[in-house]
Amino acid sequence: MTEPIAFIDLQAQRRRLGDRLENAMARVLDHGRMILGPEVDALEEKLCDFSGAAHAITCANGTDAIVLALMAEGIGPGDVVFVPAFTFIATAEAPAQLGATPYFVDVDEQSFNIDPHRLDQAIDNAKANGLKPRAVIAVDLFGQPADYPTLRSITKRHDLVLIADAAQGFGGAIHGKRVGSFGTFTTTSFFPAKPLGGFGDGGAIFTDDADKAELLRSLRAHGKGNDRYDNVRIGLNSRLDTLQAAILLEKLSIFEDELAARDRVAERYSRALAPGLTTPALGPGRRSSWAQYTLRHPERDRMMAALKGEGVPSAIYYPRPLNRQAGYKTFPLAPSGVPVSERLSGEVFSLPMHPYLKPAVQDRIIDAVMSALLIRKPKVGIEYAFVM
Ligand SMILES: *Cc1c(COP(=O)(O)O)cnc(C)c1O
Repeated sequence: MTEPIAFIDLQAQRRRLGDRLENAMARVLDHGRMILGPEVDALEEKLCDFSGAAHAITCANGTDAIVLALMAEGIGPGDVVFVPAFTFIATAEAPAQLGATPYFVDVDEQSFNIDPHRLDQAIDNAKANGLKPRAVIAVDLFGQPADYPTLRSITKRHDLVLIADAAQGFGGAIHGKRVGSFGTFTTTSFFPAKPLGGFGDGGAIFTDDADKAELLRSLRAHGKGNDRYDNVRIGLNSRLDTLQAAILLEKLSIFEDELAARDRVAERYSRALAPGLTTPALGPGRRSSWAQYTLRHPERDRMMAALKGEGVPSAIYYPRPLNRQAGYKTFPLAPSGVPVSERLSGEVFSLPMHPYLKPAVQDRIIDAVMSALLIRKPKVGIEYAFVM
């Protein structure tokens, strides 16, 4: 029997790190400083080294990271925050939690990231309707950095805050410059399945602004002032556990190597699958952290069923655009709608992707995808032809 294929194989990473994870956790249990212990400071320093950002402030999760960035700008009721319609819910949930209004913008068909041209139109549209634009949250969907050079010129022109939601894109780069300083704030998540994941929840905010960094440190700890019982503002309880920091320090030490391995896996997929399918397109100078390897097919469900039949797991990120989520239906979007997001949510599916995917296993996945492409369409009876 062939071994089952993991969508993300965290045990392979654990085996590679050997005793280092257990030893790191044991050290924390020994010193006992479970909240904001020394490993948290050490991790924040290492995250700055890695990303090139001047300040890294860890927090409880990637959703709070966005909430904290918005709070640091005083964004709340009456303020509009532009978000892509095709992303994980947290991107819109963060402004909504603060009483601000998420405004859904369509994405680019190739990169799956927020479409700068549509964003520009949406900002004008919001202003024309008497709304008050304050910020843009761009997302590095599936690992590819958003079009920050263009987004920056737009947010500058309209005097808006740019937040980079790099929950999936941490580790990515544009022309060699790492994700971490493209927005006023960059946020990320250490959820276990993210490219840099812990063994639980975690997140971080990056900024080059020293005053904002200090404000964020206060906001994540109940709005503390000089000491923990001096509360100068309304904040959150949103800190990264020392245990998670200790684990993440070990994982960060092999992250660059894992990113290179992800590149190899993605290249191998694309080389084999490009003759039959639309494979992920990277923009000029873009490096993806390959949080997901995502394909499109008009008969997605049939493709996924065929893969399942061959023992190949696949997943849908994301099955509906945010404007169609029950809790978010009342928020504004462009009069022309979000047609690309609608189409993508009906066609995308993601293949197993992690740094420890062995070539032999990857070949099984590739074979399964290619034979699924050849299966006869039941109703129309047309063979799915592909050029070799
Ligand atoms: C995972 C994710 C988040 C939220 O991260 P959590 O740590 O799960 O709160 C935010 N945005 C995007 C795009 C994500 O993929």
